Amino acid sequence: MPTSDTPPASLLRQPIVVVLGHVDHGKTTLLDKIRQSKVALKEAGKITQHIGASEITAKEISEIGGDLVNRFKLAVQIPGLLFLDTPGHEAFTSLRERGGSLADIAVLVIDVRQGIQPQTLESIRILKQFKTPFLVALTKIDQVDGWKKTKHNSFLHSLEEQAEHVQQKLDNYVYKLVESLYLRGFECERFDRITDFTRQITIVPVSAVTGEGIAELLLFLTGLSQRYLSNGLGLGKTIGKGSIIEVRTERGLGTVLDVVLYEGTLRKNDKIIFSTMNGVAESRVRCLVKPSPKGIEYVDSVSAASGVRIVGHGLDDALPGSPIAACGLDDSAEAGEMEQQVKSILFESAEDGIIVVCDTLGSVEAMLNLLKKENIPVKKTKVGKLTRDELTAASAVSKRDRYLGAIMTFNIGESPAVITEAESLGVKVFAGDVVYSIIENYQQWAVEEREREKSEVLTSKLFPAKIKIIQGCCFRKSRPCVVGVEVLEGKLVSGITLMNKEGMEIGEVKSIQHENETIPSAEKGKKVAISIEGKNAIFEKCINFNDTLYSRLPLSAVREMLNNAKLFTELELALLSELEQLLLRERKIG
Ligand code: GDP
Repeated sequence: MPTSDTPPASLLRQPIVVVLGHVDHGKTTLLDKIRQSKVALKEAGKITQHIGASEITAKEISEIGGDLVNRFKLAVQIPGLLFLDTPGHEAFTSLRERGGSLADIAVLVIDVRQGIQPQTLESIRILKQFKTPFLVALTKIDQVDGWKKTKHNSFLHSLEEQAEHVQQKLDNYVYKLVESLYLRGFECERFDRITDFTRQITIVPVSAVTGEGIAELLLFLTGLSQRYLSNGLGLGKTIGKGSIIEVRTERGLGTVLDVVLYEGTLRKNDKIIFSTMNGVAESRVRCLVKPSPKGIEYVDSVSAASGVRIVGHGLDDALPGSPIAACGLDDSAEAGEMEQQVKSILFESAEDGIIVVCDTLGSVEAMLNLLKKENIPVKKTKVGKLTRDELTAASAVSKRDRYLGAIMTFNIGESPAVITEAESLGVKVFAGDVVYSIIENYQQWAVEEREREKSEVLTSKLFPAKIKIIQGCCFRKSRPCVVGVEVLEGKLVSGITLMNKEGMEIGEVKSIQHENETIPSAEKGKKVAISIEGKNAIFEKCINFNDTLYSRLPLSAVREMLNNAKLFTELELALLSELEQLLLRERKIG
């Protein structure tokens, strides 16, 4: 267990824990099991409840941990762990502040038999990006062949009761995971075999159905938080700061904000500032609501870390994922900083680019980071729904640059009507709930479109080509002249006319042969034999070894290709420019 020089417990707040992982790997079930294990310990009515989050107190952690607390020499110093109830990277990215994440620590859930899946990778990328420490919950161990369910909430106790071949089977899964994470740059190990907590990521095998492993999961989350986060877990600050997890309408209360408070204290009547699409807005806390065993409870204040519902006027435009802060007399600095933050994420630029619409500010930010890495320009970003405004804007861009006239949406559930309208405008919408797959799908589409367009522009006989007559390869001098050539650039197509460096016409390529077979065309790099017919197709008179020949295309076709520069590689473009020059020279001479 990692040890630490942790400050006294009274100075620490609960670390905020987020559960991430691939769909169906068991995130929700795991969170439920953690909550149940706590409920089982409590007499009714004594539970500290939160909006959008669940707290496991230090006492509960120790009780659930039982004898393992001593075995792993853990002194629980934090007041507890605050689990965000909504799992997934959407929730994780909502918990954001100044480009970082408010999640202090994360649990990456991986199904023992399925291993790493696309959203597991997405989660890892996000955790890496935000530099959030995490441990792996290797779930569904009860599904390992031959696993005997036990009543223990400890993995180690349960493991002792498993047959040797079952233990071996589980180990095989663990090592498979260790290997695949190693290939992705992470060193991991099962928690009881870790030798260096600063380097290795902890894997805790669990079953969210039987509860086996929940004890170790809570203990290691506690130990890791205390070891790595203690500096960031101070209660010190007094002004309440949080992140808006959800903006919702409640009957009788109007629009309310579900907030995770991560710093300071928030009080009834506090003035608050938060972000909207149109900048920073302010309001006043009318009531603070927390759940209670009897329903809900109105409280006068809440302190970090805590999940709470804020009731107030003018909250309708608040953005999910936006920071929210109580402010004192002079709040201009705070508001200015908030405004800057939001402006860097939500913007509209005069330049052409794609349009991004996401569910929260955090997911826009995550998307922007990846787009920047891929050098994909962005014209506009938005939190909310996809509307006609974005379609019209993308359609206008598409007329100038069809590859940028596209929209990427993350987790917003587009209406079928909007999609139909987008199609009718020729605007491509890339939707999904895995950021990098959305971007990959867009990139793949762009490549395919380019290829398609390229073959439309290049009708069969209009391929640019540059070839060289190979030294020693003349099989017949004339009528037709048969020589061996290498395709230096572009594509040589049967039927085209060849010209030399001076723009002089040599003759028509009648056939192309490769290994004694006639082929319609030859790509760059290929060595083939060709027959040329024409008045100048006479070897040693008009052409010779090592001569460079070009396909003779109409100047207008070459220019059209140059105007479609995006369809060609740099080298192909260089060849087209060369051809243009040759044709111009020939015109002048002519
Ligand atoms: P999520 O999409 O990651 O939130 O996954 P869920 O929690 O909804 O779980 C997906 C399915 O896996 C459900 O049918 C769960 O009952 C099942 N499941 C989750 N955890 C476990 C586990 O530890 N053992 C077994 N046997 N089933 C599990």
